[in-house]
Amino acid sequence: MRISLAVLGCKISQYDAAHLEERLRQAGAEITPPSPESQAFLLCGCAVTERAAREAGQVARRLQRLNPNAPLYYYGCIGAYFANQPEHLAGGCSTAGSCSTAGSCSSLIAPGRVSYQACCFPPGSEVALLEALGLSSPAPVSSGSSWRRTRGLVKVQDGCSHFCAYCIVPYLRGPAKSRPILEVEGEVADLLSRGFREVALSGVHLSSWGHDLGGSTLIDLLQCLDRLPGLDRLRLSSLEPMDLSPQTVASFRTIEHLCPHLHLPLQSGSDSILQRMGRGYDRAHYLRLVEAARAAWPEVALTTDILIGFPGESEQDFQATLETIEAVSFARLHLFRYSPRPGTPAASMTGSIDEREKRRRLERLRSLAEALPGRFRRRFLGRSFPVLVERIRENQAGGFTPNYIHLTFPAWPGLEVGQPVEVKVSEEEP
Ligand code: SF4
Repeated sequence: MRISLAVLGCKISQYDAAHLEERLRQAGAEITPPSPESQAFLLCGCAVTERAAREAGQVARRLQRLNPNAPLYYYGCIGAYFANQPEHLAGGCSTAGSCSTAGSCSSLIAPGRVSYQACCFPPGSEVALLEALGLSSPAPVSSGSSWRRTRGLVKVQDGCSHFCAYCIVPYLRGPAKSRPILEVEGEVADLLSRGFREVALSGVHLSSWGHDLGGSTLIDLLQCLDRLPGLDRLRLSSLEPMDLSPQTVASFRTIEHLCPHLHLPLQSGSDSILQRMGRGYDRAHYLRLVEAARAAWPEVALTTDILIGFPGESEQDFQATLETIEAVSFARLHLFRYSPRPGTPAASMTGSIDEREKRRRLERLRSLAEALPGRFRRRFLGRSFPVLVERIRENQAGGFTPNYIHLTFPAWPGLEVGQPVEVKVSEEEP
């Protein structure tokens, strides 16, 4: 069976898609680029913002135009989202309301039911999806996915139990669930045995890892992985501040291979907005985490997410966000414009912000966001850092420092991808 997979969205979606692809191959499917010959399309994607869900719908329509007779399966967050939003589905799954469980989906694509060609499978329903495709389900694979050629990606946790007022993720992915330490250790060891020297750990709510495992902490997990032979670098994806203490951040320094790069989503610098968002921390707590990180690693890269235009965000609240960004001096910002997500508490809050005003605030932050990476880089001009070569093209090599500065430099004969080298930070990327 020729199956074509389209992947959109965050590292979790990429990881889920890589696992699904491996299981499909093991079950005998041929994975091919999307074409009129595709016998089924799988779309693994994100629904965290309205824009992400819209993009998934557009991709779905493009896939279906290639071969209107091939069924389309949505998997992951987008599968859970469309199951409850059938009116947005591409492919005419007119009874998609009954798609909310993966089991009922399989009946929709039974032979002779060709009018129902799009089905929704929530995260974690790989087995049901394989069955719907008529493939027998092999045992789950536990090898991490390759995210870049030198960097492996391992999902150590899924779901979230926090329910921030604006966020749809807990409804789509369910409660926080940590993978046991031995399982993660095995997957990381497997990546190292395949030649990866750097491993990034990701999760929907990574800082809550271990809360459901009876007393294990993220530091326990990191200490265990830190001892694995062959590991050069460990990276952490986004860490939500509400489950992080300054003591935990201070302990990161004791993990020899952990990279000094922390992504701590701030969302807003205003205490009243943080409270309305239900984030579970205030600005002072956030700044204590920043202080602990800088004390642990003076060269740390701190990056963040900012949500603009949350209901009730006044000019004063916005100013508080600007001031906090300046005070922290982030290395990079990711900016998001608030859009109501169906079923979340924020969707029915009063005080919605005019779209023009959201755009104005976004523009103001955008110029700051563009300046920050350069400012961060200039702090290290002339200093040498270890770089893992990720790419060699036309006599130029490139890779990242531990604190995530991208450096490009002339390649020399014999230089290989994956090789660690010392490189000096220059003024700008050539
Ligand atoms: S912590 Fe908040 S923003 Fe992060 S996934 Fe959970 S609910 Fe969403």
